[in-house]
Amino acid sequence: MTAHENTRHDNASILLIYTGGTIGMMENPETGVLSPLDFQHLKDNVPELKKMGYAVDAIQFDPPIDSSEMGPENWQKLVRIIADNYRKYDGFVILHGTDTMSFTASALSFMLENLGKPVILTGSQLPIGILRTDGKENLITAIEIAAARENGRPLVQEVCIFFENNLLRGNRTSKMSADHFNAFRSCNYPPLACAGIHIKYDPPRIFRPALQKPLIPHCRLDRNIAILKLFPGISPQVIESILNIPGLKAVVMETYGSGNAPSEEWFLNMLSEAVKKGIVVVNVTRCIAGTVEMQRYETGQRLLEAGIISGYDSTMESAVTKLMFLFGRGMCADEVKDWMKCSLVGEITLPETSRP
Ligand code: ASP
Repeated sequence: MTAHENTRHDNASILLIYTGGTIGMMENPETGVLSPLDFQHLKDNVPELKKMGYAVDAIQFDPPIDSSEMGPENWQKLVRIIADNYRKYDGFVILHGTDTMSFTASALSFMLENLGKPVILTGSQLPIGILRTDGKENLITAIEIAAARENGRPLVQEVCIFFENNLLRGNRTSKMSADHFNAFRSCNYPPLACAGIHIKYDPPRIFRPALQKPLIPHCRLDRNIAILKLFPGISPQVIESILNIPGLKAVVMETYGSGNAPSEEWFLNMLSEAVKKGIVVVNVTRCIAGTVEMQRYETGQRLLEAGIISGYDSTMESAVTKLMFLFGRGMCADEVKDWMKCSLVGEITLPETSRP
């Protein structure tokens, strides 16, 4: 990693999109319950924003929402805001609740095709008005990163999460802790930058589109996706009911270790029946690090034979939103399977053997 001290772009213009989350919340003194406040409150608590010297404009969701309310409609709203303001701003910072931040970051990474500017999501574990808040630092550094340039071009040109010192590729992250400041992990891809005294970027790790092309915003997502999380003792009824959901197009199956699952006949038969019906079944591991390698053990091999495809080292968040995106583009099951085997924006690491 190298320190890029001359990345500051003094005249940078940043659009801050405040969706909600803990960062802007206030504690009700009587009940202790946190509820969202408007952006003015947030701004009043971060006078440093003015000192940064950038032109920072803000748009806020009305009302601001807890991120458990996030979903395709709000992702579409974010995509439209970014697309409508794309030319006007050098970078975008999205303030978002931490609970579903990884889903939003993953979805946006697919929906904003040819992105050439930084889209940095951040939030906090403690509200910004609280003395020990982590929100101020997260917000200020996220803006600094969104404003950074190198050789006249944005240093970061992808959707990222900045949280507690680390800039992470958004579609590689998962929220790992409900209470630590260091809440996000990207176990299968290293940080793109680390913030200490200096912000040290790792440029070779940062996604660069092969050619600078105009942004193509995609707004259609297909919600006919389910998650099937395996556990020892899972019953046929559970699997059957998931695989027979009317209109279901794809299942992200969370398996063990390097993509292993029981090899009982009833289980494999149900899965291969679903595949024959045209349902795409993607194997991701429940481990937070490592990759699916179905050919490694016999149990995995049987899944391959049943027509299940590998999710490689994808996070569950990324696999779900990628399927929503691909089906949203009107693709058939075979096309979706082909694209699931490709890395669109650095969301998976392909094994050496399948690289072109
Ligand atoms: N419940 C909050 C949310 O995700 C938690 C947070 O912001 O950290 O909106």
